[in-house]
Amino acid sequence: MKKFRLGWVVLFFPICVQADSFGQGQRPVAFTHAVIIDGNGGAPIENGVLVVRGERIEGVGPAASVQIPADAAVRDIQGKVILPGLADMHLHFSHGWNGKTTDLLGYQRHLNALLYSGITTVMDTGNSLPFIIQVRDEIAAGRLIGPRMYCAGPILDGADPSWPSISYSVTSVEQVPAVVRRLKQDRVDIIKAYGGLSDSILAALVREASKSSLALFVDQGWRNGSLELVMGDGVTAFAHVPDFPPSSDALNMMKPRQVKFITTLAVVESYSRRRLADLAFLESSLIKDTTPAAVLAELRAEAARVYDDSLSASVRENTQRLRMRSSNVKTLFEAGFLLAAGTDAPYPGVFQGEGLHRELELIVEAGIRPLDAITMATRNAARIIGGEQEWGTLEPGKLANLLVINGRPDQKIQDTRNIETVVLQGRIVDREALRLRP
Ligand SMILES: [Zn+2]
Repeated sequence: MKKFRLGWVVLFFPICVQADSFGQGQRPVAFTHAVIIDGNGGAPIENGVLVVRGERIEGVGPAASVQIPADAAVRDIQGKVILPGLADMHLHFSHGWNGKTTDLLGYQRHLNALLYSGITTVMDTGNSLPFIIQVRDEIAAGRLIGPRMYCAGPILDGADPSWPSISYSVTSVEQVPAVVRRLKQDRVDIIKAYGGLSDSILAALVREASKSSLALFVDQGWRNGSLELVMGDGVTAFAHVPDFPPSSDALNMMKPRQVKFITTLAVVESYSRRRLADLAFLESSLIKDTTPAAVLAELRAEAARVYDDSLSASVRENTQRLRMRSSNVKTLFEAGFLLAAGTDAPYPGVFQGEGLHRELELIVEAGIRPLDAITMATRNAARIIGGEQEWGTLEPGKLANLLVINGRPDQKIQDTRNIETVVLQGRIVDREALRLRP
């Protein structure tokens, strides 16, 4: 065990990417003439000021209402937008483009791609437990620069797990208390429950997770959002928006219990292969600057695959599934449910970092206003994990995780991609240093 730990320390240290503090010491910084989108979904402030002191936001609001400290360094960003750093609340922090291969040593590239793309918080919903806990803890301790991370550790699945290398098999109700106790001891942030679990095991998990104050996120495929899963003391958070329209009985059962969902439209778009039909999106700097040529070549080969009957059937099924999931995003949003943005990266065409911007575009395509889509990747992302006291909106006292953007993402969601500056806990991220070196 000792040898194992030492091995990781050696790996982690030499490749940390430095972030620069604002000004000198604790000198505050005031962004002036900013358009401020605070993450709450309201109309932007057109001539706003935001003051950062240390790692937190000291003041934010219309210019006339915010006192600029006498010793502040002033950054006039005339007409540019400030919004909270974005969050991807469903990804798997692993290498590969196909959602299947895992190369844990690729972690630095993925951290870089996420931060480069303005993602300042992520939730890993299934991974190798010791690996993901250590990455999370190294970031939290400031020894590794990366987005704040929440994690599930392993996926809990049945006797024959879908993702064996990152799953625990739970095959009896009797096992459940010990499994949950162990995960709590191992300091996971959430529990992820998968499709192979029986109803009785799932019910036991709901009870034990609640006793241990651990949020339980469920993915049971087509049963997500169904009455049978949400009846009684049932599931209260789903890792995906349902693929079938929830019945009115299910909606009535879920509403008072404030059931929460993660959007994950990007992964279904990947299965539908819609994005692979035109690879022009690979020219995006968020992909080009962060992805090795070999990975892009593999993706091009995948896109050129000749369709056989089974692939054609899968494309038809997933095209319909994307329509259904998109329509459910709108239905659940309009019914007042909490939805947080998440991608399920990596999948073909779903990249760490860029994927979240694509997810926002798909949410808007589903009929959601751009400002509400941004709220799903900021305020709602924080709420779904109970982080709203610390991050998710631009308010005094919260961590200064923010982006300076060219354009108007409140009017054109694609503009979230035009990132000029990323600030992580009060420090400007050196985006140049995050770019992939040839
Ligand atoms: Zn997933």
